[in-house]
Amino acid sequence: MILLLEQQRKKIIEIALRAQNEKLIVLTFGNFSIRDKETGYICVTPSGMNYKELVPEDIVVVDENCNIIDGKRKPSIETPMHCAVYRKRKDVNGIVHTHSSFATAWACCEQDIPCVVAEVAALIGGDIKCAPYRPMGTNELADIVAETIGDNDAVLLAKHGALAVGPDIEIAFTNAVVVEEGAKVAYYAKSIGKLEPIPQEECRALRKATIEKYGQKYNK
Ligand SMILES: [Zn+2]
Repeated sequence: MILLLEQQRKKIIEIALRAQNEKLIVLTFGNFSIRDKETGYICVTPSGMNYKELVPEDIVVVDENCNIIDGKRKPSIETPMHCAVYRKRKDVNGIVHTHSSFATAWACCEQDIPCVVAEVAALIGGDIKCAPYRPMGTNELADIVAETIGDNDAVLLAKHGALAVGPDIEIAFTNAVVVEEGAKVAYYAKSIGKLEPIPQEECRALRKATIEKYGQKYNK
């Protein structure tokens, strides 16, 4: 029997394992999704399962209102957050949510990560904003995250973690790495001296140049 969106389901498992290797997540924390451009369906990791044991059938397929289309597992508790971002951002087709340490440390202090390195400007779009605290797994969290991310490609979740998006899951994964590196560099820079964020105008120029370089992958 043909499995619905089998390639996308396989890809999510690959990305989850790479996120573990990069130490962006530990245990079963974090969750990952891909939106299929043709059907509009979203493939999302199941709740609380060991990533190393996942098979494509374990990945759950939902529509953008979180209704289950295919799969026997319970979808990640943060599925409403993924769906809310997809509903708001038609240019996004991949989402990586992690609790990576440095990004989460900023989120615990409910502070935006100032954009002090060029790659954060180019790939994320500027300061990484921190969405106000809402309990995990709630529609309230989903709404505040979709609102706070705006047009940027990452956002922090107060007392919780980070979320990175992209026009595909590969770019979302790269962005999750860039968020963690950006968080780490900003932390070290702050311990050396005063942070001097890149002006918003310059962030916009770097972002525009990056989008043009990657061409239609970004449909902004
Ligand atoms: Zn989480």
